Amino acid sequence: MANGIAVGDDDLLLVVDIQNDFCPGGRLAVPRGDEVMPLVNRLATIFPHVALTQDWHPAGHLSFASSHPGRNPFETITVSYGPQILWPDHCVQGTPGAEFHPALNIPHAGLVVRKGFRRAIDSYSAFFENDRRTPTGLAGYLRERGLKRVFLAGLAFDFCVRYSAEDAHGQGFAVVVIEDACRAIDVEGSLQATRQSLAALGTAVITVNDVA
Ligand SMILES: [Zn+2]
Repeated sequence: MANGIAVGDDDLLLVVDIQNDFCPGGRLAVPRGDEVMPLVNRLATIFPHVALTQDWHPAGHLSFASSHPGRNPFETITVSYGPQILWPDHCVQGTPGAEFHPALNIPHAGLVVRKGFRRAIDSYSAFFENDRRTPTGLAGYLRERGLKRVFLAGLAFDFCVRYSAEDAHGQGFAVVVIEDACRAIDVEGSLQATRQSLAALGTAVITVNDVA
């Protein structure tokens, strides 16, 4: 990528799922997930518009292996909307694990998008739940605010960042993924699949230093 992408008033930084449970010591820790914090905090100072996503599940959520007797975390099952990976219990509403990591420091964030709060649908994307039909409202927010380009950073690169990028693209927004401000889980080839998907969509993948 060319250096020095200029951030303007129609750009949004979307900071994905920087919550305690996704950081080392959490219940679904993304390896080295805490390393993104200084990068994301610095990035955010460049953007006038920032939104945060927050994974926010009820106890007994469909995506939890513990909700399916005899199943283990990281197995894939088939649910009404297709395949669903089972996860350890994580980001349960109102628990410390669901809180933003204490080192995340973006006081000017204008929106928090909570997702995954319906018991029977998981939600990786900030735009649509995993049935790919139930909207979160973020696309409408962006349109009403005149925001046209979405920059993505956060956790995990190969799940919530990936699906958010794909859906942003599908909704007609320009998409930029700031890869060094993300970390991946890499379950069953998910990291490579993410790189292939983003490349196929023509998504710009840049580093923090590319943003002016
Ligand atoms: Zn979740």
